[in-house]
Amino acid sequence: MLNIGCHLSVSKGFKNMGDEAISIGANTFQFFTRNPRGGKAKDLDEKDIEAFLKLAEENKFAKLLAHAPYTLNACAADESKREFAIQTFEDDLNRLQKVPNNLYNFHPGSHVKQGVDVGIEYIADMINKALKPEHTTTVLLETMAGKGTEIGRSFEEIRAIIDKVELKDKMGVCLDTCHVFDAGYDIVNDLDGVLEEFDRVIGIDRLKAIHLNDSVHGFESKKDRHAKIGEGKIGLEAITRIINHPKLRNLPFLLETPNELDGYAKEIELLKSVYNG
Ligand code: FE
Ligand code: FE
Ligand code: ZN
Repeated sequence: MLNIGCHLSVSKGFKNMGDEAISIGANTFQFFTRNPRGGKAKDLDEKDIEAFLKLAEENKFAKLLAHAPYTLNACAADESKREFAIQTFEDDLNRLQKVPNNLYNFHPGSHVKQGVDVGIEYIADMINKALKPEHTTTVLLETMAGKGTEIGRSFEEIRAIIDKVELKDKMGVCLDTCHVFDAGYDIVNDLDGVLEEFDRVIGIDRLKAIHLNDSVHGFESKKDRHAKIGEGKIGLEAITRIINHPKLRNLPFLLETPNELDGYAKEIELLKSVYNG
C-alpha cells in the first residue's frame, strides 16, 4: 500500500488533521510543531490526541512527520538564536511524547558564513543537548537544495552530522525530491545511482521518509521551489519510479506541493493510480 499524505495545518488539532487526511485519501500527514516562523507552541490537547490515535489505528495510518519551524537555525552566528533552537527542539521532542513513535524532521541549518565544519558542530551539539534516551521520536535531517549557506546539500554533510550525534539509533533522514534534484543528485536519469550513493555514504536504513515534490527549476539549480507533481522539471515518470522503487516504496511520502486540500486529493489519486500494488 502506498503510504501517502501532505502537509496539513495543525491549527484545529490532530483529530481534524486525521479527518482531513482521510478525506483526501491519505494515511499520513506532516504538520508544523508550532508557527513555522517560530514562537510559542500551544499545549497539546489530551482528548484531541486520544481521538486522533484511535482514528489512526482504525485507519492504519503510517508514521506522521512533525516539522520543526523554519526559524530554527542550530548553527546561527548569534548565540541567543542557537539557544532558542536547542530549547525549541527539546520542547518539541517533549511534546511529541504524546504522539509517540513518529518522526521529527528539521532543516539542519544555515552556517551564515561561519563555515560548514563549524555549522555541523553546532547542529550535532543541539541534537546532543535536546535529544534524550526516553524520547520515542526519530529525528530526521532533511536533505537541502543548497541555497545560500544551507547545510545538508550533500549526503556527506548529513553523514558528518550523524557521526557526531550520541544517540545515533534515534537519527534518520528525510529525502526531499525537489531539494536533492536541485542540489545535483540526478533522481530523474539515475535513481539507482543516487540511492546507491545514499547507501554508501549514509546507509539506506537511515532513510525514514520522503518529501515528494516536483521542482520548478532544473537540475543543480540550488533554488528550492516546489512544483505540483508532474508540472516541474522532475516529471511524473521519474516520480512514478521513485514511489515504486523497491528501496523506497514502503516509506511514508509527504507532499509539499503548492496545493489546497482538493489539489492534494487529486495528486494523491494520481499517485495511487501509478503505484504498483
Ligand atoms: Fe522542510
Ligand atoms: Fe521538504
Ligand atoms: Zn523546499
